[in-house]
Amino acid sequence: MKVLTINSGSSSLKVALFDMKSEKRLSFLEVEKIGERVSRMIFQKETVFEGEVKSHFEAIEIVEDFLSKRDILKNFNHLFAVGHRVVHGGEKFKKSVLVDRDVMREIERLSSLAPLHNPANLKGIEAVLKKSSKVPQVAVFDTSFHQTLPKEAFLYAIDYNLYEKEGIRRYGFHGTSHSYVAKEAAKIVGKSLKELNLITLHLGNGASAAAIKRGKSIETSMGFTPLEGLVMGSRSGDIDAGAILYLLKKGFDFESLDYLLNKNSGLKGLCGVNDMREIEKRIDKERFREAFDVFCHRIKKYIGAYMAVLGGADVLVFTAGIGENSALVREKVCSGLDVFGIKIDKEKNRNGQIDISKGDSKVKVLVIKTDEEIEIARESVRVVSKIC
Ligand code: ADP
Repeated sequence: MKVLTINSGSSSLKVALFDMKSEKRLSFLEVEKIGERVSRMIFQKETVFEGEVKSHFEAIEIVEDFLSKRDILKNFNHLFAVGHRVVHGGEKFKKSVLVDRDVMREIERLSSLAPLHNPANLKGIEAVLKKSSKVPQVAVFDTSFHQTLPKEAFLYAIDYNLYEKEGIRRYGFHGTSHSYVAKEAAKIVGKSLKELNLITLHLGNGASAAAIKRGKSIETSMGFTPLEGLVMGSRSGDIDAGAILYLLKKGFDFESLDYLLNKNSGLKGLCGVNDMREIEKRIDKERFREAFDVFCHRIKKYIGAYMAVLGGADVLVFTAGIGENSALVREKVCSGLDVFGIKIDKEKNRNGQIDISKGDSKVKVLVIKTDEEIEIARESVRVVSKIC
């Protein structure tokens, strides 16, 4: 039973193929620079194709051709399902769904909430549909895991009409990753998710935290867009909207504010570098130390808040590029959290162990490698099996 997952960007396509009996990843391909003069397909860090790829459909064709020539997959008709990452599911999609024309129209309608992502995600769906109309396609939304947020957590305290008419509310993102690591954490501690309160920290270039009560997300740090919350590689995270109003008055326009907040803020804004490895190397210089401290302080603040909304946690999970690899960030974030029963073992933390909690820590602190692709593949199997 083979399942393909697709993460379709505006000019790229990331494709993973799984054998779902063993959950083994059979291959991972990335087509870059679609629509440009020279596009490339990368397989295991090697360029296996270079040439013009005009559209997402052509990208799908070279992927199929590659998999077929290598005897990995005969053609797309032999797939059990194709699962797509779709960034925004709005309030409509509370779960992953089988794609049909209505679903495609709705994803398109939701493009106003995610103009950079949903149209690109849709291109991937359309390309597969053109290639093979028989293979079931499943849309897995970044937002749907957080559709369980209670109203008091997702409403902004602004004119209610803006929620009703414009859909301005907190949605949350990275749902596939939070959901995946929460399930993995439950397996590791040997309990059912329904018995656990978890705080999950997805710390990559984009970063978000989630409070998960008995398997349901009840709070998360990203909001209407992925800009809210934690300090990120180049995104500001939380900032007083008053500062934005002030800058508008000072002559900043939409483009310059968009650039400032999404591309030139966060770690990059604070110290000029968005790569945590670089920051750690230069941590003895003031600007880098400050950026590191602001990043960790924000996370710590959210942990405290989520401890309160959950009424205490059983598990704290670190995941994604920084969460999985930076012992220094984990140590700084967890320092002084004994008051919440969070104690990490410095040795275990530095030695790359999964469970880094001290023996007497009330909260299990785990480092779990995220895998959004396998989660999308699992969701695809679940959705398609239900209707077959
Ligand atoms: P995204 O998927 O959001 O682009 P990733 O999850 O790949 O991001 O995470 C990227 C971040 O992880 C970068 O800031 C990078 O510096 C950081 N990172 C990767 N490896 C390490 C490491 N060994 N130590 C510290 N930070 C790391």
